[in-house]
Amino acid sequence: MTLPPFRNETYRDFNQPEHRQAMESALASVRSQLGQDYPLWIGGQQAKGDGTFRSLNPSRPAEVVGIHQRGTPAQASQAVEAAWSCFPTWAATPVEKRVELLVKAAALLRERKSEFNAWLIYESGKNWIEAEADTCEAIDFCEYYARQALRLAKPDPLVQMPGEQSDLVYLPLGVGIIIPPWNFPLAILVGMTAAALVTGNTVVVKPSSDTPTVAAQFIQLLYDAGFPKACCAYLTGSGSSVGDNLVEHPKTRFISFTGSREVGLRINELAAKPRKGQIWIKRVIAEMGGKDAIVVDQNADLDAAAAGIVASAFGFQGQKCSACSRAILHQAVYEEVLAKIVERTAKLRIGPADEPGLDMGPVINEKARASIQRYIDVGRSEGRLMHGGGKAEGDGFFLQPTVIADIGPDAKIFQEEIFGPVLAVTRARTFDDALELANNSQYGLTGAVYTRDPEKIQKAREQFFVGNLYINRKCTGAMVGAHPFGGFNMSGTDSKAGGPDYLMQFVQAKSIAEKVSS
Ligand code: NAP
Repeated sequence: MTLPPFRNETYRDFNQPEHRQAMESALASVRSQLGQDYPLWIGGQQAKGDGTFRSLNPSRPAEVVGIHQRGTPAQASQAVEAAWSCFPTWAATPVEKRVELLVKAAALLRERKSEFNAWLIYESGKNWIEAEADTCEAIDFCEYYARQALRLAKPDPLVQMPGEQSDLVYLPLGVGIIIPPWNFPLAILVGMTAAALVTGNTVVVKPSSDTPTVAAQFIQLLYDAGFPKACCAYLTGSGSSVGDNLVEHPKTRFISFTGSREVGLRINELAAKPRKGQIWIKRVIAEMGGKDAIVVDQNADLDAAAAGIVASAFGFQGQKCSACSRAILHQAVYEEVLAKIVERTAKLRIGPADEPGLDMGPVINEKARASIQRYIDVGRSEGRLMHGGGKAEGDGFFLQPTVIADIGPDAKIFQEEIFGPVLAVTRARTFDDALELANNSQYGLTGAVYTRDPEKIQKAREQFFVGNLYINRKCTGAMVGAHPFGGFNMSGTDSKAGGPDYLMQFVQAKSIAEKVSS
């Protein structure tokens, strides 16, 4: 089986009337489906939990997007058992068949791009273009991992000893627990699920309680594509109630998690302890938070730098793990770049995510809004408020993009992940000092440097300790295949999603040597 070379899905331009109309009609159609009930899926069967919960539209919190089951801890255990029962059959399914199903899923996603965008807009508060990027990335993950699975099925030949035939094969691991965050409710969920399934594992998908409808829509799409329902369980319910059972179950073989440092470390700790009947070491793939910095040198293109900082800091309201939350500016250009940042920030238009052409929508929920506001209040006492500082107009969870200057390296807003539209601006004495400040973090996810000096570029390549380094461009917007994604230190296990090594984490290698007669 061969597939055409991988190509990233193209983003549509919503200034074109046909694309704009497609989105408008998808928004209307999805709006008419808001507030529906969704079941759990365990062992290929629908099930109810011990109650329900609602996901809301953060742009208009009175609007219910979906009603979902509160799965119980007992159902979490059942889901793992059921996924384990069908593991041998799915593991034995030829890789070509699994790849064919994944490519079919990609095709269905492509056909229904506008509809998935609309679900993202209503449930996560992404604006049109951010939603388009999320859906395109989901398609890319399916197409990319389909090709990588075929590659993995044909490993490089081994050294052959005289009188022996030696082979290496990659086997699936078993049952994987897939736990995505709400901020890329489609792309990250799809990436982790697709990687696990295409390599022959079965999964229990536990979506974020903020974005379960996007997840439910995708699980249904997987079933429509022909993935056996029993291989892919769908379990909603709060992570704090079902999470431990999923992680601790002795039949759980691996956990693929993306989310906060706090939850990731908890999962890592619980997974490390063997349970009664468990016969393997669980594998944890954990991608966690960031405190990403953009460094601006004195001889950089200052307009490009300010544009890159503002796009990285406030795109999707700063709720990206890759978002720029620290701008570290050389003292010679500090006030000039700061003024440019403030000028650009002041022009950002905020409003409901379903309205086209706006720059920023709401943050995800009231808890997030209040937490970000607390950081802003602390930041005001730690530095000089240059823009924003509070709520923006509207009924949704809207916050002004906020810029706080003169922040020192020990400040709370310099060190802690805020996960909202707040930018700390810090003065560096020299370029070396700027790199040192940038590395002064427990995290190490993304970073960018703006400079025209080749020696400084080389220095950043060698010394800026992040999983994803960008030079003379913004620090968000990683593309599948081009920018394998994952961070150092407390940002996670550096699994490099969308890269050629990613699938290795979902398999185990078996070496076979057979004596042959000469
Ligand atoms: P979160 O609060 O850690 O939640 C992530 C997922 O974990 C959700 O599905 C959540 O379910 C679940 N969960 C919560 N408690 C759990 C437990 N005890 N056991 C098992 N699962 C549990 O993170 P978030 O707020 O959704 O996402 C934002 C975070 O993700 C930020 O820190 C961001 O930097 C990080 N992130 C990292 C990357 C990356 O690639 N490094 C990418 C995107 C986001 P409930 O919703 O039901 O609680």
